[in-house]
Amino acid sequence: MKVLVTGGAGFIGSHLCDLLLARGHEVLCVDNLATGSKNNIIHIENDNFSYVRHNVTKPLYLEEKIDWIFHLASPASPIDYLELPIPTLKVGALGTYNMLGLAKEKNARFLLTSTSEVYGDPLVSPQSEEYWGNVNPIGPRGVYDEAKRFAEAITMAYHRYHGVETRIVRIFNTYGPRMRLKDGRVVPNFIGQALNGEDLTVYGDGSQTRSFCYVSDEIEGIYRLMLSDYSDPINIGNPEERTILEFANFVLKLTGTSSKIIFKELPEDDPKQRRPDITKARKILNWEPKVSLEEGLGKTIQYFKGILKNVIQ
Ligand code: UDP
Repeated sequence: MKVLVTGGAGFIGSHLCDLLLARGHEVLCVDNLATGSKNNIIHIENDNFSYVRHNVTKPLYLEEKIDWIFHLASPASPIDYLELPIPTLKVGALGTYNMLGLAKEKNARFLLTSTSEVYGDPLVSPQSEEYWGNVNPIGPRGVYDEAKRFAEAITMAYHRYHGVETRIVRIFNTYGPRMRLKDGRVVPNFIGQALNGEDLTVYGDGSQTRSFCYVSDEIEGIYRLMLSDYSDPINIGNPEERTILEFANFVLKLTGTSSKIIFKELPEDDPKQRRPDITKARKILNWEPKVSLEEGLGKTIQYFKGILKNVIQ
């Protein structure tokens, strides 16, 4: 297949490019490097790979045929979308509109990467795809949550009205190598702090929960969804839920650091609980996560050790 990956130089996008190339596809990676980095794709030496720097909030005209579009482009860390509120809204809305237009023109299958943030600060747990969510549209996270909700709505509209073949994945917290050390998310923050001998900053009392999925599991689920014929949204994430305080203690243990835990103010609208119901993914895609938190964090810690060594040199 000839595959377009928007956000292909990002954390998840670059791993997806690797997977697609390994499975024999031809990949066109599009990224404007707002939060992605060429370092994430620099290792790729494959004639089936090409890269174009482009911001998908502007239309993209291509001569060649395209069979599949994976639309991942978006800032995805809370810090990033707080700093880039308008680009976040634009890429979720205009970027998705443009990529759906391209899919329609090329008769391509289109996959939107949506997010567990569409559930907002959920009042039910675990979150199944049927839950409509509890989002504050005008809060600081609204720029991301509402952009992705719009993206889902326009994707379904193109599916229903134009007959475009569409897929929607709701990605839950994902971690692994190639996350940015300073992207503000809890995994790079805690590991970076632990490796630097700094105290781990737990926001609030640390009783809020998250469920962490290793990136290789996440992209396998996304790939299987593209292959399926299922057009309603589907959760892909790891249902193993922990409090952030438990998670901080786990990072302390795995890194063997002498760092301590300190408590900082909880950001506004920080979801209190998050855990995917993956019944559908299990049934429809025959998918479930395989990598344990211990194994995945071990690999991620090794990666950040390498980054920090290069920073110091
Ligand atoms: N968090 C924390 N300390 C940090 C960074 C994040 O306690 O240094 C918390 C944050 O408040 C949230 C959870 O960890 O409850 C996950 O945050 P992240 O930014 O990784 O992603 P989110 O799931 O909120 O989108």
